[in-house]
Amino acid sequence: MTGLLELPTQQTVKQSKKRDYISYSAISTYQQCPLKYYFKYIAGLPEEVVSSNLILGGAIHSAAEFHFNQLMMGNPAPDQDMLLSAFWNEWHDRGEEVEIRFGKNEDINKIAEMADRILVEFQQSELAIPHGQILGVEEQLRGELIPGIPDLLARIDLITANDDELTITDFKTSRSRWNGVQAEDSGEQLLLYSELAKQLAPSKKIRLEFAVISKTATPVAERWPVTYDPTRITRTRQVIERVWSAIESQTFYPAPSPMSCGCCPFRDPCRKWRG
Ligand code: SF4
Repeated sequence: MTGLLELPTQQTVKQSKKRDYISYSAISTYQQCPLKYYFKYIAGLPEEVVSSNLILGGAIHSAAEFHFNQLMMGNPAPDQDMLLSAFWNEWHDRGEEVEIRFGKNEDINKIAEMADRILVEFQQSELAIPHGQILGVEEQLRGELIPGIPDLLARIDLITANDDELTITDFKTSRSRWNGVQAEDSGEQLLLYSELAKQLAPSKKIRLEFAVISKTATPVAERWPVTYDPTRITRTRQVIERVWSAIESQTFYPAPSPMSCGCCPFRDPCRKWRG
């Protein structure tokens, strides 16, 4: 990243870039820090440095995706070596795109040990067993949720169905174990995705869940349900309307916090930003 004057101005960007869809992660990024949203989704700045923690989560995600794709194709569940291979493929791909920043007391050997433990736990847990027929893995769905606002684009980790229910599962890795309150508090994304996915099986009851594996010394894999609540979906739509209105009016400002800034890939342009 070079000097301050090379950052795109908001006016320049407004004229040159306009997405015709929104994603939940984009909305969530704006809520976390409007300036981070600007750098990532409007200015399109490259993420030059990404924390090993984020890359680890993405690589575990890829291994789980590989597992369910094999099951969906009617193949046996992959063994540990195959899952590790999927993990390292994703890790090395990301490593070619960005500089990976390791945490304190962390190195590639510790990452390898952690990946091994997490994937063993995943394989041995009920998270590896789908609820019914697999309808989609990393399934991309798109549709209008709010008139006047671009379509919502959703990439759903796993969609399964049995006779009665359509289950939408989102996979997470977490520094610590979750609890039921944390899952409910994090449920907006799943609730919105359910609005798109329910069209796949309109007569079935919707079931929403997080599949969470902790990155603890002894990883724990757990399912956490989220209550399907239409009132909360309406509230979330209203939040998105407000956020979109702020984006359209180019309301971008830094919202520094220890949680957000520590792993932000735009620390350098943020320091240079002058409004
Ligand atoms: S460093 Fe912090 S304040 Fe700056 S863009 Fe990133 S998250 Fe926002």
